Amino acid sequence: MWNRREYRKNPDTEKRVARPNDRDDWVVREQSDLRIVSDALWTSVKKRQLEVEQSFSHTTTNRLNKAHRPQYLLSGILECAHCYGPYAIMAKDRYGCTNRKKKLPTDHLGGIVCTNSKTINRFELEERVVSAVPDNLLGADNLDRINRDIKAAVARGQQRAVVEPERLRTEITAIVTKQKAIGEKIAERLMAGHAAIPALDHMLDELEHQRLTLASQLARDAINSRTRGDTTP
Ligand SMILES: [Zn+2]
Repeated sequence: MWNRREYRKNPDTEKRVARPNDRDDWVVREQSDLRIVSDALWTSVKKRQLEVEQSFSHTTTNRLNKAHRPQYLLSGILECAHCYGPYAIMAKDRYGCTNRKKKLPTDHLGGIVCTNSKTINRFELEERVVSAVPDNLLGADNLDRINRDIKAAVARGQQRAVVEPERLRTEITAIVTKQKAIGEKIAERLMAGHAAIPALDHMLDELEHQRLTLASQLARDAINSRTRGDTTP
């Protein structure tokens, strides 16, 4: 869009003041070569925004309270040993299984709600984790093991280094093409006022998951090959 406003300098304040132009004077033109986000990405962001909006809609007080939720030392990195779901703050200063709290049926438990009712005080858990880290991580045994693991990974990387990145890139391109097609389909339906098809959203999520997995594999390979370059005698 061009020409939506006009700017005049206010002679007294020396400041530029914007005045809206008539809608008829606006110049509106599609310029797809200037796009910086794909349709698929745009659609999935819009979808996410809707979900976030919905999660706020039932609070009548300060809607930002949820967004300001505090982050803790272990936020986002714990999982339930039983259902592998997130293990997160679920009451004041207590960690517990999120799936259980939300009563979400878990597929690999045969569709029942997780039975892990154990919760733990946040401070106690943080203390346990923090005090475990130095011993486990910096013990001589473990350093040896880490060293061996790294060497083995580098050796594996060397074997695949030539073929692998090319294959990964091809797969990623194929996925992006599919995402674009599905994104367009979703956008078309939305524009035409049709109801969303959950299966399409699901496919998009699935593809995004695959794409991220491949991309991180590609990034790992790149790091491995750099490390190799630094250390090879
Ligand atoms: Zn669980």
